[in-house]
Amino acid sequence: MAKKAARKNAPAAAAKKVAARKSAVAKSGAGKAGKHVYFFGNGKADGNRTMKDLLGGKGSGLAEMTNAGLPVPPGFTISTDVCTIYYKEKAHIPAAIDAEITANLRKLENAAGAKLGSTDNPLLVSVRSGAKFSMPGMMDTILNLGLNDQSVEGLKSRTQNGRFAFDSYRRFMQMFGSVVLEIPKAAFEHEFDGVKESRGAKLDTDLDEAALREVVERYKAVVKKKSGKPFPQDPMEQLKASRDAVFRSWMNPRAQEYRRIYDIPDYIGTAVNVQMMVFGNTGDRSGTGVGFTRNPATGTKEFYGEFLINAQGEDVVAGVRTPQPIAQLEQVMPAAYKQLRQITTRLEKHYKDIQDFEFTIQDEKLYMLQTRSGKRTGYAAVVIATDLAAEKLVTPKEAVLLVDPESLNQLLAPGFDQDEWNKIAVATRGLPASPGAASGQVVFSADHAVEWTQQGKQVILVRRETVPDDIHGMFVSQGILTATGGMTSHAAVVGRQMGKPSIVGAGEIEVDEVGKKFRVGATTVKEGDWISFDGLSGEVKLARVASKPSEILQVINGQLKAADSDIYKRFDKILGWSDKFRRMGIRANADLPDQAEIAYAFGARGIGLCRTEHMFFGEGRIPVVQRMILADNEADRRKALDELLPLQREDFYGVFKAMKGSPVTIRTIDPPLHEFLPKREDLMVEIARLEMSPGNKKKELAEKRTLLARVEQLHEFNPMLGHRGVRLGITYPEITEMQTRAIIEAACRLNKEGLKVVPEIMIPLVGHVKELKDQKTVVDRVAAQTMKEQGIKIKYLVGTMIEVPRGAMTADQVAQEAQFFSFGTNDLTQLTFGYSRDDVGKFLRVYQEKKILDKDPFATIDVEGVGAVVRAGVTLGRKTRPDLKVGVCGEHGGDPASIHFFEKVGLDYVSASPYRIPVARLAAAQAALAVKVGD
Ligand code: ADP
Ligand code: MG
Ligand code: MG
Repeated sequence: MAKKAARKNAPAAAAKKVAARKSAVAKSGAGKAGKHVYFFGNGKADGNRTMKDLLGGKGSGLAEMTNAGLPVPPGFTISTDVCTIYYKEKAHIPAAIDAEITANLRKLENAAGAKLGSTDNPLLVSVRSGAKFSMPGMMDTILNLGLNDQSVEGLKSRTQNGRFAFDSYRRFMQMFGSVVLEIPKAAFEHEFDGVKESRGAKLDTDLDEAALREVVERYKAVVKKKSGKPFPQDPMEQLKASRDAVFRSWMNPRAQEYRRIYDIPDYIGTAVNVQMMVFGNTGDRSGTGVGFTRNPATGTKEFYGEFLINAQGEDVVAGVRTPQPIAQLEQVMPAAYKQLRQITTRLEKHYKDIQDFEFTIQDEKLYMLQTRSGKRTGYAAVVIATDLAAEKLVTPKEAVLLVDPESLNQLLAPGFDQDEWNKIAVATRGLPASPGAASGQVVFSADHAVEWTQQGKQVILVRRETVPDDIHGMFVSQGILTATGGMTSHAAVVGRQMGKPSIVGAGEIEVDEVGKKFRVGATTVKEGDWISFDGLSGEVKLARVASKPSEILQVINGQLKAADSDIYKRFDKILGWSDKFRRMGIRANADLPDQAEIAYAFGARGIGLCRTEHMFFGEGRIPVVQRMILADNEADRRKALDELLPLQREDFYGVFKAMKGSPVTIRTIDPPLHEFLPKREDLMVEIARLEMSPGNKKKELAEKRTLLARVEQLHEFNPMLGHRGVRLGITYPEITEMQTRAIIEAACRLNKEGLKVVPEIMIPLVGHVKELKDQKTVVDRVAAQTMKEQGIKIKYLVGTMIEVPRGAMTADQVAQEAQFFSFGTNDLTQLTFGYSRDDVGKFLRVYQEKKILDKDPFATIDVEGVGAVVRAGVTLGRKTRPDLKVGVCGEHGGDPASIHFFEKVGLDYVSASPYRIPVARLAAAQAALAVKVGD
């Protein structure tokens, strides 16, 4: 998590970054120069847990478990560097690396006591993908490699189990066929089902050796027909082709989409793990399973997971057979169960985090196949972090690092209004895979989910089961509902990670994806119908149900006592710890008193941006504002401003009060005036209508015409670059005067009432020091006069928003006038890139697809460009005024990756929208723990 900030560089810099990463690795001594393959086996591994960059998460976990003496089948990891080489060399692996792989294969054969391709004692291996960040199901894995027409007989005679040998062979052919030869899975499934049908078999496990031999023959025909070549019999050829296919799978569209959503750069590449197979499909004393050391949906401390007897690999997650809850393993194989619990408890202690593990039991002997930090919901993340701290497994500092800041948002998501929810009958139930209330219109495909959401609809994606290709649809849906699959199925894992309410394995629903409907009991639900479900209870209802604020929001709103909410207390604990570890202050962007109150309740201590123009849009104010704008002389304008004064003063009073004396930065008017007037086109239509309509509308018509004339006068070709910000204050100083007076009067009143407030008056869009000087003169004059009238002297500051690149590049001069800076990174991004932020949507997606830009620079700060401007502004400003207070108030103030950057450049505070305050508090703490000012 803490590393996230380091992951946000554009692919343009990929080559440079790869080089940088390599030298960092070499420096730490973790990887040896020229070494590309890392062995693990016989209790010793070349790698360890610190080598995720090079070995991927899976490879580093296998190495670490091997070193810890756990039962891990031996194998070796081909490093992520080789993936980079593979792409650089246009899908070719140099001979030297091939030789290193072969040498490690020989070592593996020795450790395993079996030989790849041997006819009497064949070694079988899996070829597993594994990048630094886990990407469930996005890339490919091949099991049982090494089987061919001869070695399968060898496997049969070694195990005295023909059914098992041929089951393994057909599985291998199917995986190799689909992953390496890219033959559609359906072609194999068709043959498999055909054999099952002709033998009257219901379950896969009902097929005997003869039947499986027939499956193998049919598969060969499929391969021959679809690829034009016979199924490859040479195990080395199988191995190389599979390795390359895993490298290829790194760039498949769904993996790319996944990385885009989770902000994982393309250049890091995947490792390939080649590992001796162990078999969960040898019979009823074998099995395979996956699990978590704690419940990843709720965080509850319980052993959690599923297993299948007589099964292999992906069977558990594929949702083909319904797995058994892991607790039942205790009855079936008590010794293996006990050992599994001991090992996983140890792993959790060792890694100091919830573990997600895979295991296989072969003839009652347990093997560990994977361990990694478990993906969890935001809710579970907070519960687990506070529990681990209470159990003294982690310190508060470590607990703070265990929660992804972004995931705190899930805790703020609404739930159902229980009364309304209880009124509706339960239509069906499924497994509660990911908590949260979801209500939406049913869609049956990921593409439709995306289309409908783009039309502004709210959808629930209903599938028989989800597959990794559905990721884009899952991302936009309110919730995910599947008919098959267990708590560790794809939909469940991804749903939890995204914080999407999800119910899986709702076995009573019959989904007809082609006909776009599902049946539950006697009812048919069609595409577009409303359904709702509760991801915590697993209940599905066929209606639209209103939702209500989350428990945390209820506490914030004062509807619920903090003491009565367990989750609030935990949330508060994590944030309380965060406050101890962070250096930067947290302020809110809030314009109105009620927003300021929420922000304060969420822990903001100060307002970084109070936009006064939002106050102009308040009820009944627009006509006054319009009169001010329409005035063609100063006297009329002043009259309108006089009317606005008391309204603004009240607002400021409320905001100051809500912040209880914490600093409040108020920005003088910023947007171009035409924003307060009706649209030109609308006015023209109205005038035309009035002209046509009978009756005496003369007065109205005259008014509209005046308005239109003024609108036309104010019309700008490029309003974003036009008459706005400080330019308005300079041309209409009476606006700045009124605003200053309102601010100072409100502050004087509060100071008289005993609340000490120090208003910070902020002039927007300053590019030249003289602009600021002009406005500062106005502010100081009016402030002095107002304080004299009020008979009280208060402290106030005048500063500026740095959002014009010229302002940043001349910050040393600007700081002569400014007592503080606040970076307005929205406009600064707009003006540095020259992208209109209102039009960027038209091309940004293409830019991202073409990898010109990695991310939306309006969401996460562009460190290289805009960041450099910020850095220059801070450095120059502090050269003039070493104690200059500097903050940020753009959208980026609530973005964790950007917050890391602001920590580095040494800003004093970040300011974010009220609901993002918790995210900002946690992200600021993580930033302070991960990076140093000046890095
Ligand atoms: P994923 O990242 O999609 O989980 P994995 O590489 O972990 O892919 O493997 C897919 C499945 O195959 C998992 O259930 C895993 O436990 C199983 N598997 C992988 N390698 C072996 C092996 N050597 N022996 C037995 N099962 C294996
Ligand atoms: Mg896989
Ligand atoms: Mg796995």
